[in-house]
Amino acid sequence: MSAEAYFQLMNPLVFLLFAAGFFTVNAVRPSRAVLLLAISYLTGAAAFTSDILEQAGIISFGIIVVGSIYAITATLASAGLALYYRGTAPWRLYAAAFVIHVFLYSWSFNSLGAGWTSSFIANFGCGIIFTIGLVAIRGHTPRKIDKLVFWLYAISCFQGFARPLVMLYASGGSLSPENFDQALFIVMLHFVVGACAVMLGMALLVACSTEIIEDLRVSSVTDRLSGIYNRRGFEDVAEAALRNRRDNDFAAVILADIDHFKKVNDTHGHAYGDMVIAELGALFTEYADRDRIAGRIGGEEFAMLVMGEPLHAAKELAEALRGDFAEINIDAANTDDADNFTASFGVALRQPGESLLSLIARADEALYLSKALGRNRVSCETDVQVEKLRSAASAHQRRQYRDGLSAARA
Ligand code: GH3
Ligand code: MG
Ligand code: MG
Repeated sequence: MSAEAYFQLMNPLVFLLFAAGFFTVNAVRPSRAVLLLAISYLTGAAAFTSDILEQAGIISFGIIVVGSIYAITATLASAGLALYYRGTAPWRLYAAAFVIHVFLYSWSFNSLGAGWTSSFIANFGCGIIFTIGLVAIRGHTPRKIDKLVFWLYAISCFQGFARPLVMLYASGGSLSPENFDQALFIVMLHFVVGACAVMLGMALLVACSTEIIEDLRVSSVTDRLSGIYNRRGFEDVAEAALRNRRDNDFAAVILADIDHFKKVNDTHGHAYGDMVIAELGALFTEYADRDRIAGRIGGEEFAMLVMGEPLHAAKELAEALRGDFAEINIDAANTDDADNFTASFGVALRQPGESLLSLIARADEALYLSKALGRNRVSCETDVQVEKLRSAASAHQRRQYRDGLSAARA
């Protein structure tokens, strides 16, 4: 084997490394698209290896077989990219393009042998198969890294057409068999396609990895049962939102806790209890928007940070949530029954400079007043103050009454 053939063996090795990378990504987060990309790098390694062995005369697979493995690689990579970015791949078009390509290549090779025509057909055919994927993903590459993938992919498609034409031009521009240098053609193919596959593979691996990292970040702040922020997510997002507001802008917290929930679990089972929690979560999601951040901050406790609205508006919102929840019928498992449930609410308005946790603690006090007053109601921090004054006043009256009695006895 010549020195340049050993140099070319780098390509199969690099392709195998990328295949391992995509198989690993697929193991972490299974996806048909990534699996296809992994297999395409594997068949790419097989295509280059068989080509090198064929050219070196070590094993003869037949040039049509080698050409077909290249075409399989192009089809799998193109379909994998289409599936990854678009969610679907034009399989019939790929099948038709593949069959026509292999037919034309076999025909040209059998009738004309190795030369410009069969090499052009081999490269243009794979270029067309590759370009089908490029057209499919156009407009479906939202992030910056996806756009980079798109442009590297476009370069990879372009080289399939440009490389043979540049080689023809460099060889004098005529299609004569004498100026066709097959060895040079193959070295250029390995070099350019290898470089494109490395750049595209790296960008794609970064795109896949950042997506996995983003998924992990989202799932670490999302409650699985209700689909809204969990306590950590709620606190992070709500604190960031408060930091972006002026100290004296309105910001209120609404807290909700489902009434007698232990009984719900005991009577209907835990799975049914989960359904009830999910319903209240869905309601909080429905009412949430850019200025209303909702989260599940405990077992059956939910919170909403309401920005830009005074206390009475936040209380009205809590009333709407309470009323809506009380009206939801939740079908009991395995029976025709449907039950209604209630929740108690507490609302507090942020004082200038107050932290989120202190605000939540004051809303919690109001929530427990709602529980003490009989549940299924909304209380505000002002109600807590009134209640404190009332109980202080009645304690004072009781003391006066006791003092009066003792004075009368004496
Ligand atoms: P109260 O009206 O005073 O709130 O009474 P309660 O029975 O609802 O009392 P509490 O709020 O303390 O009850 C919380 C219960 O919620 C205890 C726990 O078994 C249940 N719980 C917590 N997390 C989950 C969950 O994810 N799923 C289900 N099904 N139950 C949960
Ligand atoms: Mg509770
Ligand atoms: Mg409860």
